[in-house]
Amino acid sequence: MKIKLIATVIIASMLLMSCSLFRPAESPSSPVESDTESASTTDEVTEPPMTAEPVIPVKKPGDPLTVCIDAGHGYTDPGCTTKYLSGKYEREIVSDYSKVLKTKLEEMGCRVILLRNDEHYVDAAEIAAAARKLGMSILEDKLVDDGRFAPYNRSVWANVLHRDTYIDLFVSIHIDSFEEMESVRGTRIYYCTDTPYSIGSKKLCDALAESVKAALPDTNARSFAKSSAEAYVVTKHTEMPSVLIEMGFATNPDDAASILDTEWRDSFCRAIADGIKAYSGN
Ligand SMILES: [Zn+2]
Repeated sequence: MKIKLIATVIIASMLLMSCSLFRPAESPSSPVESDTESASTTDEVTEPPMTAEPVIPVKKPGDPLTVCIDAGHGYTDPGCTTKYLSGKYEREIVSDYSKVLKTKLEEMGCRVILLRNDEHYVDAAEIAAAARKLGMSILEDKLVDDGRFAPYNRSVWANVLHRDTYIDLFVSIHIDSFEEMESVRGTRIYYCTDTPYSIGSKKLCDALAESVKAALPDTNARSFAKSSAEAYVVTKHTEMPSVLIEMGFATNPDDAASILDTEWRDSFCRAIADGIKAYSGN
């Protein structure tokens, strides 16, 4: 009886296998699905859980210091420009700074993630799907799909990447502007005072400001504390110590000239890398 049953199963399996050769492309034919079907003795269907088990970011032992660099704006959002920026926009300039900073950090042994990837625009649906799959609690209605990789989208995307490759710190790079008064200048670095990561953010912010001011005294680099009511979005929704750097003012001719100068760029990025080193205690 048993032998007859086994023989029937084998013949049935062979028939199924041969039929699968003629299945239309959209039919499920993966071995995993077939195995599950044949192993099932009842009509019982395993429902996926309503919410995924949350994936908590974990740093693996021996992993290098990992820095996420967020070049501000991009895609449909050019950022600021003024007559002092020689026809350039913040979008391109901060992207160049990010790449120089990446090289300097890698030379120091850091791992670097460039959040803005100009080859692939990560839309709101992709971000929401990835966050859902990881069981992350996000404010889906705050995700916007206006083609500019909005700040909340960036924050959630950084948090998604954080679950795959642990991110120690987040640095967003921008250029400020203040049309009301061209004389306003200098480097301002911001952090949010009321997140679970505020202590680290303050320490990072202070280390960067100190390092930039020491290397480039004209910047008069300073840290600025902002409550979550007025903080930059990326500094309050990222789940790691984070800062936003306004390198200088595009509306100030001296700052704009510095920002366009490649030697100044090199010194500025070196100072940021040194500040990160000081923050991490290496
Ligand atoms: Zn900006």
